[in-house]
Amino acid sequence: MSMKLAAFKRGAQAAKKAMGPLQYGVNGKAFVCACCGHDKFTAGVAPMLVLNTLTCAQCGHVEFFGKEPPIL
Ligand SMILES: [Zn+2]
Repeated sequence: MSMKLAAFKRGAQAAKKAMGPLQYGVNGKAFVCACCGHDKFTAGVAPMLVLNTLTCAQCGHVEFFGKEPPIL
């Protein structure tokens, strides 16, 4: 990965964090926490598993995805 691309990705992640928890979806349908029903998540990456995660902003439940679900 080039230095410019790495810097861009860091900037994009910082911008997402500044916006706070967001609503994500799979196939255009809002993703809802299986534990509490909340619909706002913080996106992240599990470093050891190399999987994308959505962490429920209300209860902390973590879901894993092979790629980051799009923001709705
Ligand atoms: Zn939840």
